[in-house]
Amino acid sequence: MKIVLLNLSHNSEKLIEIAGRTSYLSFDKQMPGSEKKFIRMIIKNGHESVLEHASATFWVYEISRVLSHQFVRHRFCSITQQSQRYIDEKNFKYIEPFSVSTNSEAHKIYVNLMKDIEKSYQKLRDIGIKKEDTRYILPNSTTTQMVITANLREWRHIIKIRGEKAAQWEIRKLVIEILKIFKNEIPIVFSDFIIDDDNLVISKNPS
Ligand SMILES: Cc1cc2nc3c(=O)[nH]c(=O)nc-3n(C[C@H](O)[C@H](O)[C@H](O)COP(=O)(O)OP(=O)(O)OC[C@H]3O[C@@H](n4cnc5c(N)ncnc54)[C@H](O)[C@@H]3O)c2cc1C
Repeated sequence: MKIVLLNLSHNSEKLIEIAGRTSYLSFDKQMPGSEKKFIRMIIKNGHESVLEHASATFWVYEISRVLSHQFVRHRFCSITQQSQRYIDEKNFKYIEPFSVSTNSEAHKIYVNLMKDIEKSYQKLRDIGIKKEDTRYILPNSTTTQMVITANLREWRHIIKIRGEKAAQWEIRKLVIEILKIFKNEIPIVFSDFIIDDDNLVISKNPS
């Protein structure tokens, strides 16, 4: 799994503070560092719409279509994904879950199936089947890539529900890595999120 932060609204935390202070016309209270207390206050009070003024874009790749299928359910994201209609998948790469790769019998079954699919894909292409139809035989494990843009309120929501225990391991891994990037870039907006010893996201402000 690879993640690249392509874009983050310039001066996100100050931007959020300025937007939020428009409600109260409290610009006189703005000073270096004042965004810290202000952003914590709006999150604590559930005024998260103010966070929508800033957004972030990530390029994620070497992820499976199992993951992407779950991710695209988040309706406030703008997403562009690698096409299986236009890209020839004859040498498709795939994700192998840890439970399979660490079990020699399961690993063998898995790898053999992937090889069979690869061969069949090539045979179908050789007899003239278009990429858009040949792709029907590709597995969920096929790797894909996406560029995802969302505002910070939506990123907080996604990280909260996809980073917790009930979430599936691959999407959880993705959002935890994204959370680490956010904690580095804009720590105040994500200061109520903790990554615990079991690599789960805990929010101190449960919605
Ligand atoms: C652990 C887990 C298991 C899951 N299992 C399944 C499953 O088995 N089957 C399945 O189909 N899906 C499953 N999902 C996906 C889930 O049902 C949601 O589709 C997905 O998580 C997107 O969540 P959302 O609607 O909260 O997010 P978003 O689309 O990101 O929306 C963000 C928030 O905006 C608000 N919102 C968005 N659209 C509307 C609207 N039309 N009306 C009112 N409010 C709106 C809601 O408050 C929503 O929480 C699972 C998700 C999780 C986290």
